[in-house]
Amino acid sequence: MYPASFRYLRPRSLAEALEFLTRHGEEAKLLAGGHSLLPAMKLRLASPRYLIDIGGLRELRGIDTSPGEMVIGALTLHAEIAASDSVRRLLPGLAEAASVIGDLQVRNRGTIGGSVAHADPGADFPVILTALSAAFVLQSSSGKRRVAADGFFRDFFTTALAPDEILTEIRIPLPPRGAGTAYAKLGHPASGYAVVSAGAWLIVDSAGNCESARVAVGGLDGIPRRAAATEAALQGRPLTAENIAAAAARAADGAKAEGDTYASAEYKLHVATVFARRAIEAAAGRAGRQDRA
Ligand SMILES: Cc1cc2nc3c(=O)[nH]c(=O)nc-3n(C[C@H](O)[C@H](O)[C@H](O)COP(=O)(O)OP(=O)(O)OC[C@H]3O[C@@H](n4cnc5c(N)ncnc54)[C@H](O)[C@@H]3O)c2cc1C
Repeated sequence: MYPASFRYLRPRSLAEALEFLTRHGEEAKLLAGGHSLLPAMKLRLASPRYLIDIGGLRELRGIDTSPGEMVIGALTLHAEIAASDSVRRLLPGLAEAASVIGDLQVRNRGTIGGSVAHADPGADFPVILTALSAAFVLQSSSGKRRVAADGFFRDFFTTALAPDEILTEIRIPLPPRGAGTAYAKLGHPASGYAVVSAGAWLIVDSAGNCESARVAVGGLDGIPRRAAATEAALQGRPLTAENIAAAAARAADGAKAEGDTYASAEYKLHVATVFARRAIEAAAGRAGRQDRA
């Protein structure tokens, strides 16, 4: 199907993009990699009157490691994140999530900002970014605000972004020495989107006990959810296979899942515990081995 007709605007700077967005507000859509928006327009699920193509704004692209934080521009491609030496070294779970998104073409066009803003329930970045305590910088003509991943995702395809805001940066605290991160997903065999996925961030002390844990699970009910019971069960305990399995078995405690034509709600709730275990095991295996020199 062809999309409804629209006016194409190509801003030369972030300031101009914000100006367009302020002027056209609810009637406009930002275009980044186009891998989610263009299919939606062709299906007439989205029919913006103005398409603001921010894809060429170099100022929103790149990966910087400042003291204590990694800052990723919203237009950074999935493939750039998967291949980045600093991401692979400092946040291997994030590189892992980027590397399993769709296929090569999707990874070479899709942007992290587009994925986060689109908030597809089967998307990979929202889950790992929730586990990594990421914050999103949202900018409008009247200023900037920073929203934690924990409160950013509101519902299926719904976030805290206002119609006049652009997501400009993703900021991720760098884990200290002794930390490990990992991501694991059950991909849908046709689309590659996550049926269920899990991200883990662990800190292990010198005695081998879990000092701190953040575990997030996605694909159940539209937004990434922290697995609070799993996190509590890991806290202070040695990361043995038995302790990890017991903690991961609680990854869907209190969660609700939406079944669909591929997977029932019951199946998703079970698979969440399996993939939480895999992510925690991988993060535990990496903890203490990070090269921060
Ligand atoms: C065949 C196929 C397979 C895929 N498989 C996967 C998969 O396995 N896992 C996965 O996670 N994803 C998958 N995707 C989705 C892919 O990752 C998209 O690239 C991503 O969801 C959207 O990024 P984009 O840059 O293409 O955004 P666009 O499609 O350009 O935009 C998506 C939405 O976000 C808004 N937006 C974009 N950038 C910003 C910004 N900076 N600030 C505010 N709003 C913004 C747009 O207005 C639009 O509403 C797949 C897509 C395809 C086509």
